[in-house]
Amino acid sequence: MKRLRLRVRGQVQGVGFRPFLHGLAHRLALTGWVLNDGAGVLAEVQGDALERFLAALAEDAPPLARIDAIETDAIPAQPDETGFAILASQRGAVTTGIAPDAAVCPACLAELFDPADRRYRYPFLNCTHCGPRFTITRALPYDRPQTAMAGFPLCPDCAAEYADPADRRFHAQPTACPSCGPRLSHSIAEVLAALRGGRIVAIKGLGGFHLACDAFDAAAVERLRARKQRNGKPFALMVANVASAERFVEMEAAERALLEGVARPVVLLRRREAPTLPASRALSLINIRCCRHRAQCRSPSEP
Ligand SMILES: [Zn+2]
Ligand SMILES: [Zn+2]
Repeated sequence: MKRLRLRVRGQVQGVGFRPFLHGLAHRLALTGWVLNDGAGVLAEVQGDALERFLAALAEDAPPLARIDAIETDAIPAQPDETGFAILASQRGAVTTGIAPDAAVCPACLAELFDPADRRYRYPFLNCTHCGPRFTITRALPYDRPQTAMAGFPLCPDCAAEYADPADRRFHAQPTACPSCGPRLSHSIAEVLAALRGGRIVAIKGLGGFHLACDAFDAAAVERLRARKQRNGKPFALMVANVASAERFVEMEAAERALLEGVARPVVLLRRREAPTLPASRALSLINIRCCRHRAQCRSPSEP
C-alpha cells in the first residue's frame, strides 16, 4: 500500500476542491485527508488506486478550479487509517488566491424558480460551483468564518447539506437559505415599482452597487447620466438571459458564450436595427453598440 502527500497550487480555494477530493477518494476506496492552507490545498492519500486518483485530479477538477501545479511525495503508509477526512484549515503565509465570484449555476437557477424548493426566489442561493467568493472573503484559508457569511450561522437544513458528501452543497462555505441567510432590505416588488415609476435604484450586489433605472424611460436614463456626470460613456443594459438580449442585439457563438460564462461580463454587442427596439431614444442613450473593431461599427452619436 502506498501513501502520497500532495500539494496542489493554483485557484483551488473556493472552488469545491476539498469536497471534490473527498468524493474522489471515496470512489477509489482511498484513505487520508485534505485541508486548505495558505499555499493552496494539502492532502495525503493512501491506497491502491493512487495513479487513477492523480489522473482524475487533473482531468475532472471542479469547473471553477485552475490547477497550476501538483507536487507529490511518497511517504510511509499508515496501515490503521480508515476513511477520508476534510481537516480544519491551517493558517500560515498566504501564497494562494481565492476564486473570483461566479454567476449562479444552472442547478441553483432551477431551484430559484421551483416553487417546491425551499430556496424558491431566494436571491442569495449558491453552491459549491457558484456564488460569491472574492467579494465576501476577508482572509485565507477560505472558510466561512473568514467570509462575510460568518455572521449567519447555518440552520439545521443547511448544516445537513453542508455535512453530506452526496449533497451538491457539501462544504459550500457561503451556503444560505431563507431561514438562515441574508435577506433583502426591500422586496423585489418595491424595487420594481420604483423602477417603473422612473426612479433610480441603488442595488447592492457582489463587488459594489448597481445604479439601475428603466432603460426604456428616457427621462430616467437622462437623470442617471446627469447624476453620474456620464455624458457619453455607455451604460450596460441588464437583461434576464440571452433570449432577452437577442431582442435588442445580434450575437455570435463566442459572444453568447461570454454572456453565459461564469464571469458574466459586460459584453459589447451589435445593436439590432429598429423597429425591434422600443423606445430607441433611451436605448441609444444606454449605447448598446458594437465593438470598435467591427466593420459595421458606428459611433454612439450616429442614429
Ligand atoms: Zn450553484
Ligand atoms: Zn439555512
